Amino acid sequence: MGSRRNRGSISGLASSKRSFVSRQPPHVSFEFFPPKTPAGWDKLKETAARLAEFEPDFTSVTFGAGGSGNVRTLEACLAVRSVMDADVVPHLSCIGQTRDMIEAHLEEYKNAGFTRILALRGDVPDVPPDAKIDAPSTEPAFPPDGFRYASELVEFIKSRGHFHILVGCYPEGHPEATSLQTDIDNFIRKIEAGADAAVTQYFFNNAGYFHFVNEVRRRGLDTPIVVGLMPVWPYEQVARFSEKCGADVPLWIKKRMEGYQDDPKSQFEFAVEVAVTQSEELLRNGAPGIHFYTLNRPEAIVRICEHLRGQRVESVPSDDIGFGDVEIPASLS
Ligand code: FAD
Repeated sequence: MGSRRNRGSISGLASSKRSFVSRQPPHVSFEFFPPKTPAGWDKLKETAARLAEFEPDFTSVTFGAGGSGNVRTLEACLAVRSVMDADVVPHLSCIGQTRDMIEAHLEEYKNAGFTRILALRGDVPDVPPDAKIDAPSTEPAFPPDGFRYASELVEFIKSRGHFHILVGCYPEGHPEATSLQTDIDNFIRKIEAGADAAVTQYFFNNAGYFHFVNEVRRRGLDTPIVVGLMPVWPYEQVARFSEKCGADVPLWIKKRMEGYQDDPKSQFEFAVEVAVTQSEELLRNGAPGIHFYTLNRPEAIVRICEHLRGQRVESVPSDDIGFGDVEIPASLS
């Protein structure tokens, strides 16, 4: 793998309105998901409006696998942009999509005024789209003229110009990767293909992030690697999803959470405490920013950001803790 200095710098995450570096530390950003229900749309807007006070460097909106995802992604990007003065980055995954479909999504994002994109392969859907499958049913659906890996998507987007490209990376290794080394090789392939910056999968072991970044730097790349951080709340759902996406939930966190089984308030407080400690250590040791997976809920993220800013922290009323019947991403439900 040839080494190369990366063109993307921290300021490469800048918004056209206000630059990344001009914002005050701590550098935070937020991920949202496109909801399905009217109540979910209200919650998205309410959450984005509530989090706006933390002046995020950028925000991002996830993309559903299978090709039809971008209608709601685009709509959600516009909803976030209507309540928050921050650069909005739509995600775009290539699984199950033809080149023409990808091209159409890019055109729509461009026409809507978005200049950055988070390029992904996408998760293998439980039920692959039934059209244009060229692989056995245990394999993801890859149309013949589509893209098999995110690096190919990055190369395609780069060749068309316009977009500043972010990609995902996995300090604890992607679940399908045969080793951490090959996964790092594959991450570097995405940078070589033209990605400017990266956001990590969430993790709870900071040592893995520092090791990953050191390894990438050792290979000559200075690509900004923003930390993706998921508070361990709601615990049951996050623990279950972590098994699927390969994020290690340390035993000490599991045991504390299980000890609070009938006490959601203590679970919530502990999740905030873990996230604050983790974020502080990461930022102190050079992480360029923390990208919070918000699940379209403000409570935990507000508390964490207030701590990071050294603000007085208000207690969250018990009624606001717990997800009740509020929509969460399908992947966690
Ligand atoms: P890739 O980089 O293509 O990697 C996928 C696997 O293939 C890895 O194991 C990698 O090591 C391997 N690989 C890569 N290139 C090669 C090669 N040339 N030869 C052999 N093996 C190779 N999913 C969604 O559906 N929607 C979202 O909005 C979304 N947002 C995300 C945001 C972030 C920050 C992250 C980290 C993940 C997100 N995901 C999302 C999940 C992501 O789509 C899955 O983790 C997916 O399984 C891998 O996507 P990728 O872009 O990392 O794939």
